[in-house]
This record gives sequence, structure tokens and C-alpha cells, in this order.
Amino acid sequence: MVKITSGAIVPIKAMQTAVAARVSATIRATGRRYLSSRRLEHAMANLSSSVGDLASRFSGRLLMPGSAEWEAARRVHNGLVDKHPALIAQCLGSADIASTVRFARERGLEIAVRAGGHNVGGKACCEGGVMIDLSLMKHVHVAPEQRAARAAGGTLWGHFNRETQLHGLATTGGVVSTTGVAGLTLGGGVGWLMPKHAMALDNLESVEMVLADGNVMRAGAHENADLFWAVRGGGGNFGIASSLEFRLHPVGPDVIGGLVAWPVDRAPDVLRLFRELAAKANDDLMLVCALITGPDATTKLVAIAAGYFGDAASGDKAVWPIKSLGQPVKDAMGPISYTALNSMLDVSYPAGARNYWKAHFCESLTDEAIDTIVDAFMRCPSPMGQLLIEHFHGAASRIAPTETAFALRADGFNVLVLSQWMSPADDAVGTKWSRDAYAAIRSFGGPSRYLNYFDQDDTGDQALTAAYGPNLRRLQQVKAKYDPENVFHLNVNIPPKA
Ligand SMILES: Cc1cc2nc3c(=O)[nH]c(=O)nc-3n(C[C@H](O)[C@H](O)[C@H](O)COP(=O)(O)OP(=O)(O)OC[C@H]3O[C@@H](n4cnc5c(N)ncnc54)[C@H](O)[C@@H]3O)c2cc1C
Repeated sequence: MVKITSGAIVPIKAMQTAVAARVSATIRATGRRYLSSRRLEHAMANLSSSVGDLASRFSGRLLMPGSAEWEAARRVHNGLVDKHPALIAQCLGSADIASTVRFARERGLEIAVRAGGHNVGGKACCEGGVMIDLSLMKHVHVAPEQRAARAAGGTLWGHFNRETQLHGLATTGGVVSTTGVAGLTLGGGVGWLMPKHAMALDNLESVEMVLADGNVMRAGAHENADLFWAVRGGGGNFGIASSLEFRLHPVGPDVIGGLVAWPVDRAPDVLRLFRELAAKANDDLMLVCALITGPDATTKLVAIAAGYFGDAASGDKAVWPIKSLGQPVKDAMGPISYTALNSMLDVSYPAGARNYWKAHFCESLTDEAIDTIVDAFMRCPSPMGQLLIEHFHGAASRIAPTETAFALRADGFNVLVLSQWMSPADDAVGTKWSRDAYAAIRSFGGPSRYLNYFDQDDTGDQALTAAYGPNLRRLQQVKAKYDPENVFHLNVNIPPKA
């Protein structure tokens, strides 16, 4: 039964007027024009009455401004994001998604798509439009004999991993369990299994998509192959994935992994060890280096986190140089369940914390780059801020850049300046640190940047080229075929061009 939730009539109207005013202000401030502000105000005024039409062809929940549910549902992971959709459609399946896409388009309303809500730029929500929220769609079906799993579009990695691990299986997924399967996969998918089994998107077998015209289409290697090529790296540009089918691999349940941390004055030595280990790492070993602050919120630390996915004896050998560097403040590296490895970092990224990220891919880590990274971290103003270096190698890097839409296929180091803080009073300082650190570090980088770490201001031609590289032109053509009016533009947007 459809539930429409909203406050009393008067608060709804007051809220809608307030939302419409905010949207008009945003349009004026940014010059962004999807609807004209007058048309938008008109559309919003009519929404309360016309939402009943949608309700008659909708099974999930429709949330309008003025209800507590709407207030909670409009929030995404990044507390800096404060947008006010005119309607949140919490869908239960493809039919709900299709109805909502048609409803929004008929009224000229902007569409945002939310799975796990972790996009740091807050693209999962919108000001005054319709937020298609898949968070009620979390079903995972595992077919152990086929080593395959189909996940509904709103599934989170923690849930996915638990279901697949029940059968001793897994696929590459995000290292934080609260991140959404769909957003992470369509934009790439860096995870512990990346060197061994490539990126999350490389393990996709098929997707079911609701397209811009509201039609439902499957895409796979032998079915709408152009669309399948494009969604693997083109993010949410082409439609809404109501379900995603993955290839699985035997993993765990226990693996070797965890984290060793030292005082930050050891950072140059630790980063050099990280570089040395990265240079000889085989496909079983995934490495991440992290500059972080300890639980006392004062002591700056440097850490190496690792996951090893071969036999335990080889794993012990592979992580031994990390454990034997000497005098760590914490050594939590050893046997660990795969699901625990994938949630051990969750506590460092609380929902609602304010985030501003900048990332760049560096093919090598020179001594000068190491010194710059350490220096940048020492200036970090918040105990929640981090500087992360993810090592890319193995199966993910051996795939040709044009084989899927995801072009970042090189060995190297993805350097992420992850600024994070709690108080709105620290917004300017937190943002500035990330920008300054990035400006210092990017000179060591190449032309590529990892799309999933783009913030709201990573826009324009340079950003597009950094994200899509040699695939941009072909992506524009596929976009022109499947979404010629750019309905799905709240993403790292590919302008349609036939
Ligand atoms: C704490 C944290 C940890 C992270 N860890 C990792 C990591 O380990 N590895 C990694 O690669 N990235 C990681 N990321 C980045 C992550 O990949 C992106 O933030 C990604 O967008 C998250 O997906 P989501 O579904 O949670 O996001 P959402 O914010 O819900 O969606 C982001 C965008 O993806 C698109 N989208 C989402 N769902 C669908 C769908 N069903 N169909 C079509 N388009 C859709 C839409 O364009 C949407 O705007 C992390 C982010 C955070 C905040």
C-alpha cells in the first residue's frame, strides 16, 4: 500500500514555498537552469495535488516536505549537503522507478537518484526536484552454484557481503560497509579484492535499468552491449539500475588483513615501505596507506592497511614486512573475517559528518611526493581528516582503458585528501585544507582522476576528461542514444552528443 507522508496542509504549503524560494536562489546563484524558477514554483505548487496520480501507480512510500520521514530521507552521508527535494519517492522496484521517472518528466522536475547516499558531492539529492530513493530496495539473491548474485539497486555493501559470505563467496566492493553497491559500482569500485578480481564494475554480469523514457531494459555482454559498456564507468548517466548482477569468487571466510599504525614522525619510512611493497605486490595483496589521527583525537598517525586473498601462510609472509617495521602504536594485522575487514573502517566515517574531498591519481610516489603528502597532512585541521593512498595494480590495471567506460587502468596510487569535520563553524577551514593539500599534491599526478571521489565542484571539461579519458566521445554518443535530453544529469555529467 502506498503511503504518502507529509505534515498538515499549511506546513506543506509553507515548506513548499520555502523550498521553491531556496531553489530560485540556487538557480540565481549558480546560473543552473533545469526549470525556470517560475515554472518550478508553479510545478511545486501543483505537486501536492498531482502526487495522488503517482500514488495510484506506486507501491513504495512518497514523502513530501513537512514530514519527519521526508526530513530524514533527504539527508545523505555528507552533512554538508542540505538539499530539499519537493518529493522523495522511496521505490520498491522497477515499476515504481519507471512511474516516478515519467511523473517527474511530465512535470519538468529534476531527478536525483539515491542508492547508498555516499556520493560526497551530494548528487543523490536535489533542490526542489524528485529524489528517487532506492534505499528500500536492498534484496540480494545469491546463486552459489552459478557463483552469481543479484543485488537490488539500493543494496549496501555490508548487506551484500554478508549474503555472499554465507556461501564463502564475494566480489570486489567498497571498503566501508555503508556505501551503496550501485553508485560505487557504476563509477568504478575500489575495494580489497581489486588486484585479484578487478574493480567492482568488472564483475558486473548485467544490469536492469529504467531508462529516461521510463522503459525497462537489461544490459549485459550480449544484450544492449553499448549500454553495458557505458554503465561500467559512466556512473548514473544512462538510467537507474534497479538491480545489478555480479560474478562471485571464493573468498574467506577468514583472510589475512587489518592495519598497523605508527606515530606520524615515522611517516617518511612507512610511506617508503608502502611504495616498496606496492612495487612487488602480487594480485593477492591490496595495500592502502593512511595518514590519520588516533582515537585520542590528538595523536597523528601513519598506517598501512592490507588485505591478502591467497593462502594464509603466503599472507603472513606478505604482511610480515609491515608488522616487523618496529614500534607500532597499534598492530591489528592478522587473520580476520572478510566481512570484518570490510567494516573495520566504518567507524572513521560517521554519517552526517561534513566532508569535502579532492583526489588525484599518481602513477608513481616519488620522495618529493611523499614529503609533500606528509607535510600536507601535518596541516590537517581536524582529527577526522585523512590522507589516503590506495594502490592500484593487478587485475584492475590489466584491463584495457577502452574495454569498459572506466578508463583509469594503470598501476599507481590514488591519493585522496579526505577532509572531514563535524561543526558547521569549521566548514571554511575544512574545505580550504583539502583544496590546499590537493593543489600541492596534484603536481605529482597524471591526467586521471577517480570519478567516485569527485566533489560537487569537480565540473567542466577538465574534470570530464580526467574522469573519462579516451572514452568521453563514445560515452557522449551512448548518452545521446539513451538519454538525449540529459534527464539523468546529477552525476559527473556526460553531455549527450550524437
Ligand atoms: C565513507 C565512504 C567510503 C567510500 N568508500 C569507497 C570505496 O571503498 N571504494 C570506492 O570505490 N568508493 C568509495 N566511496 C565513494 C563511493 O564509491 C561513491 O561515493 C559512490 O557514489 C557511492 O555510491 P552510493 O550508492 O552510496 O551513492 P549515492 O550517493 O546514493 O549515489 C551516487 C550517484 O550514483 C548514481 N547512482 C546511485 N545509485 C544508482 C542506481 N541504482 N542507478 C543508477 N545510478 C545510480 C547516481 O548518479 C547518484 O547520484 C566511499 C564514499 C564514502 C562517503
